[in-house]
Amino acid sequence: MAKLKNLEAYREEIEQCVKCGACRAHCPVFGVEKREGHVARGKVALAHSLLEGEVDLEAKVLEDMSQCLLCGSCCAQCPNKVPTEEIVAATRRRIAEQQGLTAFGKGLATVLGRPKLMNLLAKSGGTLSALLFKRLPENSGLRLRFPAPYFEQGRTLPPITAKPFRERVPEIILGDPLQPTVMFFTGCGINYMYPAVGEAFLKALKFLDVTIIIPKDQACCGLPAVSAGAAATVEKLAEQNLAALTRHPADYIVTACASCGAGLGKIYPDMGHEFQGLAAKVMDIFVFLARHGLPEKLAALPKAASPVRVTYHDPCHLRNQGITREPRAILKALPQVEFVEMADAGTCCGLGGTYSVYHYQTSKQIGARKAASISNCGAELVATDCPGCIMQLQDSINHAKGPQRSIHILELLAEALPALD
Ligand code: SF4
Ligand code: SF4
Repeated sequence: MAKLKNLEAYREEIEQCVKCGACRAHCPVFGVEKREGHVARGKVALAHSLLEGEVDLEAKVLEDMSQCLLCGSCCAQCPNKVPTEEIVAATRRRIAEQQGLTAFGKGLATVLGRPKLMNLLAKSGGTLSALLFKRLPENSGLRLRFPAPYFEQGRTLPPITAKPFRERVPEIILGDPLQPTVMFFTGCGINYMYPAVGEAFLKALKFLDVTIIIPKDQACCGLPAVSAGAAATVEKLAEQNLAALTRHPADYIVTACASCGAGLGKIYPDMGHEFQGLAAKVMDIFVFLARHGLPEKLAALPKAASPVRVTYHDPCHLRNQGITREPRAILKALPQVEFVEMADAGTCCGLGGTYSVYHYQTSKQIGARKAASISNCGAELVATDCPGCIMQLQDSINHAKGPQRSIHILELLAEALPALD
């Protein structure tokens, strides 16, 4: 049975914090809020006090623990590699255990834990989208026509598709038997909001002639529920995915969503030894494509006369795994792209799972810095590898009244590849 680690299991890591404060300079939330309780050092100290029974779950504790994007920037810079994002997530689980989930957390857990309900809601949202949303210019997203709980009217949201991606495609697409077999873990973002990214994924893998399996019964990876502290939902989803992803043999389980990759590859193995074989097969799409020679194949294509200027945003969940070169290698090899690096490409976009729902004003301020970096480097497009980042980046650009668009790298790749039969 899948079981997430509890706060007590992090005691050793918590006690490794030497309170040096090196994390302060790298925390996007502290950069905006400038409050000690919001930086890693303060949260780790609070988690220690909770373990020791020195504080109760009073309002300030709940507020400080909610003020975290779970971005892992602090851990990357910490001399002792204290995993603050995991400690905060475990503390949120303890809070939920003792006080129950928030109203938003309850709604999220109910929907994520019931894939059929999620499908039904997505389809209704897709059908009613003209009524609920107004379209923004240049196809840069939608805005709610009316105020809605937890979502500000001024926020840009992507359209919800009336037909989810996994319902559009067969479960198995055969390729060359001498090539590897890839299982596609689509994640919710691609399935319900960005089906074109799923189509682009298939085009790239068909170009390499690999066999593709897209299990119909895969569920959400559970990362939004991790952010909300909804332990039982995360564990249930992990069990569902274990069954779905081991039903067919495959060499790799490939994602085009950095967050899904982190959920399956990093959080699942902590939940039990039965997840370790699955986690060992998880690979990001750009690592797969780079290892299978795609940059070299792209370099052979004729260059476009007027390339589009594109920059790259590192999703936290890829940067934390050290995956920074492969997405750039694909972008730089695209014949229609002129790649330009922006300042602070590796800084969190400000979404942070449920963070931007509870703290949208701070999330917007973090996103505004990103929008300025995109504009300053002269890019027309910002490409990335995470549907959540695409949504947040477009929202930030729209608030800054910029002309740029955020896009998945796979969409650019599909544009460059020749049409297949
Ligand atoms: S950098 Fe690490 S050790 Fe130093 S205060 Fe932050 S969490 Fe603690
Ligand atoms: S995980 Fe990110 S937001 Fe949370 S304390 Fe660390 S740097 Fe700050």
